Amino acid sequence: MSVVELNSVATVHYTGTLPESGEVFDSSEGRDPLTFLVGHKQMIPGFEEELMGAEKGERRTFTLTPERAYGPRMEEAIQTIPKDMFGDIVPEVGMTLMSDVGPFNVASVNGDTITVDFNHKLAGESLTFSVEVVDVRPADEEEISHGHSHGPGGVNH
Ligand code: ZN
Repeated sequence: MSVVELNSVATVHYTGTLPESGEVFDSSEGRDPLTFLVGHKQMIPGFEEELMGAEKGERRTFTLTPERAYGPRMEEAIQTIPKDMFGDIVPEVGMTLMSDVGPFNVASVNGDTITVDFNHKLAGESLTFSVEVVDVRPADEEEISHGHSHGPGGVNH
């Protein structure tokens, strides 16, 4: 029987909550389950580690520290930039925008000075996941060389 391990393709249903508030930040409920190639950085590291050895049908619930999830919140990722740099966009608090170095959030607007935050929204947070392994199979050579899964839930090309 296949288990979740390096170079297996796992299909899971999951619900992620913030352990302190119980707020659901992400869930596959009501959607297709999530399929990923294990060990190829498609998922946050702790998520895969906690599922290692799980069989089809198994459920696991675990809480990850920020270090094993989206990393710590970093002060240097918060920057102030002039409004001019937004061009035609009128920055508003809470907006998520794309830059050359990745997405960022508008943290505050003070006249012509805008504070932006490049931290992931879940950086610095502990995350609890409840996961059900819907299916697991060994990956084929092509999937391993591509670094992602093919077929349902994976890349079609
Ligand atoms: Zn491919």
